[in-house]
Amino acid sequence: MRKRLVAANWKMNGDKALVADLLDSFKAANLGLNSEVIIFAPSIFMGLTESKLSDSNIKWGGQNCSDIEKGAFTGEISLSMLKEFGCTHVLVGHSERRTLYNESNAICAEKVKSALAQDVTPILCVGETLEQRENGTTEAIVVEQINTVLDLVGIQGLAQCIIAYEPVWAIGTGKTASPEQAQDVHAFIRQLLAAQDVVASEKVQILYGGSVNGATAAELFGMPDIDGGLVGGASLKQEEFITICNAAD
Ligand code: PGA
Repeated sequence: MRKRLVAANWKMNGDKALVADLLDSFKAANLGLNSEVIIFAPSIFMGLTESKLSDSNIKWGGQNCSDIEKGAFTGEISLSMLKEFGCTHVLVGHSERRTLYNESNAICAEKVKSALAQDVTPILCVGETLEQRENGTTEAIVVEQINTVLDLVGIQGLAQCIIAYEPVWAIGTGKTASPEQAQDVHAFIRQLLAAQDVVASEKVQILYGGSVNGATAAELFGMPDIDGGLVGGASLKQEEFITICNAAD
């Protein structure tokens, strides 16, 4: 049985006061006790996040990482730095990284490989744009995004990852994919993995992301291949994020 998981992606939002406030309230609400909860705060708040969450059931991780260990790479953050602050997970290939910072499938695959080598669990984000959905290429896009990673780390590597299906047209737009639309792609992804290894395909958690909110979470999480959510905007609202996490329990 796969455990449900809800992850908060705060992106470049918040300040010290808001981070402290949200983390205190999530801890007080006992999040992470039944389903897994992971907070992706901006990296500069990682020390604060660690000090707030280290005695809780909530995990935390980085929104991005370098695929390289160390060196002259101004502005980058390494996996060992994330680990030093207690991060257990890292987001890889979020659509904002892919589109705004030109991260290719190949670089995402390298990041997954580096994260696995450092025992940090990657959450590999995949998903199609509106144009690609309308062209009927959703499946082809997702196959390419996943196969590039599979080619580098194999199914046993991918079996240690979490996948987040995030249709780009649903991110930050208020247009959640319908539970059926999301389920179709999740089932397709699971079949893709099953073609390599059935046991691995049953084990991998596949999250849905894109305008998940307190009103849509329960129905989405009720679908057979949706194992939880990657939540952006709604995760910055205390009550709403707690409602979403409770919907996963
Ligand atoms: P959203 O963002 O919930 O605000 O749509 C999700 C994400 O980008 O991970």
